[in-house]
Amino acid sequence: MVKRTGGRIFVISGPSGGGKTTVVEALLAHAPGLVRSVSVTTRPRRSSERDGADYRFVSGGAFARLRARGELLEWAQVHHAWYGTPRQPVERALARGRDVILSIDVQGARQVKRRFGARAVLVFLVPPSLRALAQRLRKRRTETPQALQTRLRAAKRELACAAWYDYTVVNRRVPEAVEQLEAIVTAERLRTGRR
Ligand code: 5GP
Repeated sequence: MVKRTGGRIFVISGPSGGGKTTVVEALLAHAPGLVRSVSVTTRPRRSSERDGADYRFVSGGAFARLRARGELLEWAQVHHAWYGTPRQPVERALARGRDVILSIDVQGARQVKRRFGARAVLVFLVPPSLRALAQRLRKRRTETPQALQTRLRAAKRELACAAWYDYTVVNRRVPEAVEQLEAIVTAERLRTGRR
C-alpha cells in the first residue's frame, strides 16, 4: 500500500492576463483531489467576479487585521492592492492529504517555498510572447490604459522570475497548458520523496 503523508501545494504564477484563471479552472475540472485556495484582496471586485468564490474582497483595515493575527500564509502587494492566502483552509486541506492550488504572484510563491520547501511545487505560466499578453489584457477590458501599462511593466519583471520555479508552462492554447499542468500534478504525486 502506498501511504500518503499530507498533500502538496501547487503554486501557479504568471503575468496578469496570461490566462492563469482559465487554466486553473480547467485544471480543477480535470484533476480530482485538487482544492483551490480563495485569496483575500483589497482590490475592487470586477463585475465578472463573485465575492467568496473568486476572491474574498476586504477593506485595507480587515486585511491588516488578518495579517496581524497570523491568519495569512503569505501576502504581497501587487499593482497597488494587497493579496493574501488564508492559512486555515490550506492547512486543513493539506492535513487531510489533499493537494492545494494557489494562484499567486512571485513574491507569494517565494514565501510559500520558504515555508513549505519540497512540499511546494512552483509552476510558472508564461504567455507565448509579451505581445500576446498585451493583446489579451486589452481584450479583457478590465483595466484602464494606465493600469494596463503598470501590468505590462510588472509582467516583464515577473517573467525574469520564471528561472527559479520548478516548472514552466507556455500558455499557447488552454487545453495544451492544462494537459501539461495535469502531467506535473501526476508526476509530483508519484514522487518518492527523494530530493
Ligand atoms: P488580479 O488582480 O489580476 O486577480 O491578480 C493580480 C496578481 O495577484 C496576480 O499575479 C495574482 O496571481 C496575484 N494574487 C492573487 N491572489 C494572491 C494571493 O493570495 N497572494 C499573492 N501573493 N498574490 C496573489
